Formats: sequence, structure tokens, C-alpha cells
Amino acid sequence: MTDLRCLDELLRAEDGDAGCTAGEEILDAYVELELRGVDPARGYPGTAIHLESCPGCRADHDGLLEAARRFGDAAR
Ligand SMILES: [Zn+2]
Repeated sequence: MTDLRCLDELLRAEDGDAGCTAGEEILDAYVELELRGVDPARGYPGTAIHLESCPGCRADHDGLLEAARRFGDAAR
């Protein structure tokens, strides 16, 4: 819940939509934040915005989250 140390490094100057490519690169980390109970929009605000507006990335995200929940630590 308080494991936010790394997020400062990740909080780059991204306002607005981060785009598909950026989302793909960090989707694993994004999902991991969700699994930890951290709001991923804090670390990846641009991707959070993007996922709202891009059905393709949303589907990728949902699939990854589903897989991560199913396999847990095995995915590391
Ligand atoms: Zn996209």
C-alpha cells in the first residue's frame, strides 16, 4: 500500500494520453500496481487515461490483469 518509492521515477512529464506504445511497455508494471492495491494512475497517469479511451489496450490490460491474478507470483 505504501510501496510508492519507485513511482517518483516513473512520474514523468506525461499529461494526456500516453499512447499505445507507452502502454504496452509498462502494462506489466501497471497491472502489478493494481494487484498491490496501488492506484496505477499515480504511476502511469498517461496510460490510465489511454486505457479509458483505447479498447484495444483496455483488452490487453484486462487480459494481463486476469492472468496475473490467476498465476500470481509465477508471472514474475
Ligand atoms: Zn491503445
